[in-house]
Amino acid sequence: MLAFGNPVDAAIIGAGVVGCAMARRFSLEGASVVVLERAPDILSGASKANSAILHTGFDAPPGSVELQCMQAGYDEYMQIREDFNLPILDTGALVAAWSDSEEARLPELLEQALLNGVADARLLSRAEVVAREPALGAHVRAALLVPREVIIDPWSAPLAYAMQAKALGARFHFNAGLLSARFDGDLWHLQTPMGTLTARSVINAAGIHGDSVERMLIGGSQFEIRPRKGQFVVFDKAAAKHLRTILLPVPTARTKGVVLTRTIFGNLLVGPTAEEQEERERPDVTRPELDMLIAKAVELVPALAQAQVTAVYAGLRPASEEKHYRLHSLPEKGYFCAGGIRSTGLTAALGIARHVHGLWAQDRTAGGKPITAPPILPLPNLAEHLPRDWELPGHDGIVCHCEMVTGREIEAALSSPLPPGDFGGLRRRTRCAMGRCQGFNCLARLNSLTEGRLSVPITPEADR
Ligand SMILES: Cc1cc2nc3c(=O)[nH]c(=O)nc-3n(C[C@H](O)[C@H](O)[C@H](O)COP(=O)(O)OP(=O)(O)OC[C@H]3O[C@@H](n4cnc5c(N)ncnc54)[C@H](O)[C@@H]3O)c2cc1C
Repeated sequence: MLAFGNPVDAAIIGAGVVGCAMARRFSLEGASVVVLERAPDILSGASKANSAILHTGFDAPPGSVELQCMQAGYDEYMQIREDFNLPILDTGALVAAWSDSEEARLPELLEQALLNGVADARLLSRAEVVAREPALGAHVRAALLVPREVIIDPWSAPLAYAMQAKALGARFHFNAGLLSARFDGDLWHLQTPMGTLTARSVINAAGIHGDSVERMLIGGSQFEIRPRKGQFVVFDKAAAKHLRTILLPVPTARTKGVVLTRTIFGNLLVGPTAEEQEERERPDVTRPELDMLIAKAVELVPALAQAQVTAVYAGLRPASEEKHYRLHSLPEKGYFCAGGIRSTGLTAALGIARHVHGLWAQDRTAGGKPITAPPILPLPNLAEHLPRDWELPGHDGIVCHCEMVTGREIEAALSSPLPPGDFGGLRRRTRCAMGRCQGFNCLARLNSLTEGRLSVPITPEADR
């Protein structure tokens, strides 16, 4: 059992990108923080499987809190990214029209972008689109160009937020899912498999379990999570040369649709699907949907018919029965909810954290002083277009030859202040076993390097 000690100002439930950003923001503002995560590592839910686009909010509902959080999140990411060594791939995005009806919708999308403050968005003629992206299918009609949509590393960013929170004193407890909770009129008593924690307030950032955690905490839930699966196909790095810009479809009311984009790691990605499912734990990949994605990619960029597939994966969006974020609070109980963050949370996390902290701070006199010179721990670069560790001397040999991951990188991850708890966490921190062979050649070596150092040892079936 862990000794949780004195009550903390804020207990954050869930260490997805939202929980990590929340831990950072509350710690920066001087609050004492504990993060309770039921999985063995951060980013074990929706945040481990997204498209990695930092959105401008051009197509978000005008005037919404979501738009406000996305734009605040985007701006803060851009402000801090150089200090933390967080990369961007400066691609821009094209919302491409492939039919008369889609082309007719582009002016209204431009109008919405301008209304949302995305002033550099503009329409491109067919000739301009083809000049920019010569490999596109011949039936492309026109597009909306959104220059500031960019690609980021979806795992290093939240890791940087969590590491800074930890350096400021936040405590992260893994395998410590919230089991039950009681509010005694002053303090929360939060029961976990690791012991009972007391806290002055609770922040619900439990993603796909946000509604059940809300019921556990306050006896009912204002929302119901409706998991929405998104499957992806990752093409081999050789395919990335066919596209510069993120290719977005004209969106529908329900989904942003299937995207074709480069990744920061040098691959080309197509996805996600949008499939409702009851099951909350396992986002399985399925052959017909993967075939549909490959066919879609080939329709958009015909040269991809020859491209090899490196990997497939799926994530579950924590969507709810309504489209908007479920941000609400019961200040008299010190309860705050950041739920239903379905498809823009990577972008918005830093903004959501500011928003929720603002609500939290409204009726609070205690809670510490803001930190004026916070510690900054730069992250190792994993982006393909920037110098990697294997290019520098003394790297202790290459462990993963597909992704050129060095022994020094593996050791640095394992001995970092927030080390991985499982194989998935090690992969997200280093890219080991993420390439063409998916670990076939390096698994035995990784097994011996990580022996006794992961809370869940590597097995062939280990969570990725
Ligand atoms: C297919 C797909 C594509 C996407 N593309 C993009 C994109 O390009 N750009 C973008 O900005 N966003 C994108 N998103 C959205 C983004 O990934 C999500 O909005 C974000 O990851 C949600 O983060 P979260 O922290 O709310 O939830 P999660 O990441 O799910 O984190 C919740 C955490 O809570 C933990 N938890 C649950 N129950 C408990 C409990 N009882 N006790 C303790 N811990 C608990 C879980 O284990 C989990 O780690 C995409 C999402 C998907 C699925």
